[in-house]
Amino acid sequence: MHHEVLRVDSNGRSERVRDEEQPWQEELVMALVRRGYTLSEAILIAATACMRCRCVLAYELGLDYGYAYGSPEYEATDSDCELCQSKG
Ligand SMILES: [Zn+2]
Repeated sequence: MHHEVLRVDSNGRSERVRDEEQPWQEELVMALVRRGYTLSEAILIAATACMRCRCVLAYELGLDYGYAYGSPEYEATDSDCELCQSKG
């Protein structure tokens, strides 16, 4: 089990160093909640989506990471789950 590391720069801004092994990401969950999902729905979505689906969600939700569906990064990420299988 890996943990996220919080890095704080000289301006006092904290930056989360992301860990790909993290089963779900707080940032993503909070973004989903802001879009109108309940906390439990958001956690469920973040927990069941594979890595690339989480990246696509992060991108679509305007987070500072992630990539578009169908992008080269997306194609290069070899992961799948029910979400991307249903997208084809
Ligand atoms: Zn997926």
